[in-house]
Amino acid sequence: MKLYNLPPNPRAILFDIDCTLYTSDLWAEEQIAIQVRHFAGLRGVLEAEAFQMIEQERSRHEKETGKKTSLGNALTAFGVPIAESIRWRETLLEPQQFLNPDTVLRKVLISLGERFSLAAVTNNPTIPATKTLEALGVLDLFPILVGLDTTGMSKPHPEPYLTAARELGVPSNECISVGDRYDIDIAIPLELGMGGILVDGVHDVYELPKLLQRFSLKNSSSL
Ligand SMILES: [Mg+2]
Repeated sequence: MKLYNLPPNPRAILFDIDCTLYTSDLWAEEQIAIQVRHFAGLRGVLEAEAFQMIEQERSRHEKETGKKTSLGNALTAFGVPIAESIRWRETLLEPQQFLNPDTVLRKVLISLGERFSLAAVTNNPTIPATKTLEALGVLDLFPILVGLDTTGMSKPHPEPYLTAARELGVPSNECISVGDRYDIDIAIPLELGMGGILVDGVHDVYELPKLLQRFSLKNSSSL
């Protein structure tokens, strides 16, 4: 876990969902594979061939721009608009088949929720993101969920973060973004004046109440 620029008086935490609120390589991989299988079916090619086509497109993009691209963006090169791949994810992804309720995470989020406003900010559409939080047994603990279709922009675009902060009514410089990918979840929030916590998986999230304890003392003494 790495901490970046934690604000002196944080009031909100914006959580990434995938590979942050759960640690499951199987489900993370399945989210990609299920879309590639669907693409292969539509194209009438073998799954392995479809994977290869997408991999080639992703490395071409990275070579040209120096930046990695998402599966959704790579699919646009094959005539699949983002709106279409969002629909695939809405109908195909079934996280409850891979994830179980996490009682430790639930306790951790309840504890954090007593001191901070919580939001989930994800590049998945709202429907599968909701199903994921439901499968983990923590949906009711996130009053704000910003999905890909909420803003039409995907992280690391600033808009999803700004929307979450606005909906929570907390200024950017009092927010902390928590996620598992520096480029996607941390770099832009830091530019927006937020703090960042880079995690290796949900086991790091379990440590947050203890780690952020000093802030609650500070907040309560300033009331
Ligand atoms: Mg993630």
